[in-house]
Amino acid sequence: MTETSTSTRALHLLETIFGYASFRGQQAEIVELIAQGGDALVLMPTGGGKSLCYQIPALLRDGVGVVISPLIALMQDQVDALAEVGVRAAFLNSTQTYEEASRIERQVRTGELDLVYVAPERLMTPRCLDLLSASKIALFAIDEAHCVSQWGHDFRPEYIKLSVLHERFPNVPRIALTATADQQTRTEIAHRLQLDAAKMFISSFDRPNIRYQIVEKANGRKQLLDFIQAEHVGDAGIVYCLSRKKVEETAEFLNASGIRALPYHAGMKFDERSRNQARFLREEGIVMTATIAFGMGIDKPDVRFVAHLDLPKSIEGYYQETGRAGRDGQPANAWMAYGLQDVVQQRRMIDESEADETFKRVLGVKLDAMLGLCETLGCRRRHLLEYFGQASQPCGNCDTCLTPPVSFNATVPVQKLLSAIYRVDQRFGAGHVLDVLRGIDSDKVKQWRHDQLSVFGIGAESSEAEWRAILRQSIALGLVAVDYESYNALKLTDAAKPVLRGGEQVQLRAYQKPVKAKRASGKA
Ligand code: ADP
Ligand code: ZN
Repeated sequence: MTETSTSTRALHLLETIFGYASFRGQQAEIVELIAQGGDALVLMPTGGGKSLCYQIPALLRDGVGVVISPLIALMQDQVDALAEVGVRAAFLNSTQTYEEASRIERQVRTGELDLVYVAPERLMTPRCLDLLSASKIALFAIDEAHCVSQWGHDFRPEYIKLSVLHERFPNVPRIALTATADQQTRTEIAHRLQLDAAKMFISSFDRPNIRYQIVEKANGRKQLLDFIQAEHVGDAGIVYCLSRKKVEETAEFLNASGIRALPYHAGMKFDERSRNQARFLREEGIVMTATIAFGMGIDKPDVRFVAHLDLPKSIEGYYQETGRAGRDGQPANAWMAYGLQDVVQQRRMIDESEADETFKRVLGVKLDAMLGLCETLGCRRRHLLEYFGQASQPCGNCDTCLTPPVSFNATVPVQKLLSAIYRVDQRFGAGHVLDVLRGIDSDKVKQWRHDQLSVFGIGAESSEAEWRAILRQSIALGLVAVDYESYNALKLTDAAKPVLRGGEQVQLRAYQKPVKAKRASGKA
């Protein structure tokens, strides 16, 4: 097979079967490499067009293309869509009867299929591996390859075992694909799947039609409602919350406010969850309130907004979740409300998790990066892309570009805060420390005689909200720590010392009063 003939044939399939005029981005190069037997690791954002990267080579090569995917719920849809254009595809997973599975297995063996989708746990069974050994395999496509990363929230232990493919089928080309991959995850995928020698394809992670916006949380739900009413009446959207309870409450709240919302979380009955997902996909203008259990592999092109009422654990999570907005290329919003409580909560979750120290440290670094994105004074998109190793210019289409945040030299207020924490012996939580600073003689203040302290009332010039913003950023910057083991007491870190001594200046984002969201221009 010569190079030109491969690319000509690939283009021909693209046009005649899939109905597209040209390849997008790096698709052509990837298709050609796999078709000729090479290995690839493909990092492409959601909606970028990963599927064709293995579907076309599977058609070009002899044998069946084996697609490993954890998304059992979507296999039927994928197979149906392929059948519609005349590609012979099937799947093997736990939802099938023995008879059905046997029939598909027969078809694999006799070479009657172009593509077969298999769940990773299924693939690893001796029965399935034997089947593959007895069949002609065109390629292995490992979809959602980031599931191999132990640090990510989509970790699937079966993925680690996929390295066996390389050992048992050394001559079959492999392509691993994912939409989420920071440097660490990339390395992990390459290493664990034995793809160190594979060619890496990194597409631009920029999603220019998404407007990123992160607001200070005051009353999150109310702010969300204002945002939806101002910019997204009648639009489909996803609202992410941390807990199942909050998912339910938020859905109820939105419904009571005239927004059609449905809940989705892993604690719901399977039937109800599937029904809600189906309605979200098929009906127009439904807002899905969900935990992160919702969304992987969801292909709904016209999601107009993704909102976060709680802070994601990492930038990868944030990027993956917000990436579900605007897959059709039309303008979409990624909106998040973020506050002091989020920082405290996420730090506590890491602290209290069962994970070992190394794991906790990694989680901490990831959270810090996420906090950096929230607190940045510069362009959000630029910051986001930089995290994925992509240099760019300020975008002009995110909140910080459109309304540059005001920063101020906060050295004196931060010193006041640090002193107050120190003077109450680092034994009290945020509420009490702020009362002391602002000179509020609450019962607790009187009980501990903290109104006698030199720091009592030294911060009376600022409001509680302003102090919360300063405290939040001090925690985000690592100047202040929260001790979860003793009633969330605030403590000073080593990094606080140079600030207290006056050797180091601190620049913070000025507190901005939440303003009612304005209707986006140009939208009916
Ligand atoms: P991903 O898996 O990366 O999220 P998909 O493979 O589902 O993306 O593709 C996203 C959308 O883009 C699909 O609707 C697909 O048909 C479309 N698409 C992919 N490649 C092309 C192309 N070369 N030309 C036009 N549309 C394409
Ligand atoms: Zn920007």
